[in-house]
Amino acid sequence: MSTIFSRIINREIKADIVYEDDDILAFNDVNPQAPVHVLIIPKKEIATLNDLTEVDAEVVGKLHLAAAKIARDKGFAEEGYRVVMNCNEKGGQSVYHIHLHLMGGRQMSWPAG
Ligand code: C5P
Repeated sequence: MSTIFSRIINREIKADIVYEDDDILAFNDVNPQAPVHVLIIPKKEIATLNDLTEVDAEVVGKLHLAAAKIARDKGFAEEGYRVVMNCNEKGGQSVYHIHLHLMGGRQMSWPAG
């Protein structure tokens, strides 16, 4: 089942895109929880972390490589940042197209709420 993120990939809905390649797209979260809050998504529709298979290993690696690159480009790689993926209801997932949240520019606390 397609989500709003597929409509962003297909340019049917505007997003503030910060990175794109053949496999992934990254854009600023519309409801940022940190000075920088970027969502990094695969172009392939994968609903949750539970739906990943071996063939998705490369693209999941690319999501993380993109997170580190964006953190470097934004200038907070060295001071630190957070990358998180929510899974299903109790994990706090609201859009069922997997995405990494990249958050930086403030002190993070732990445990996450
Ligand atoms: O992990 P979760 O599924 O809850 O995260 C979804 C994220 O997608 C939220 O942080 C929300 O602000 C963001 N979002 C967005 N643009 C949309 C719809 C949702 O940035 N059009």
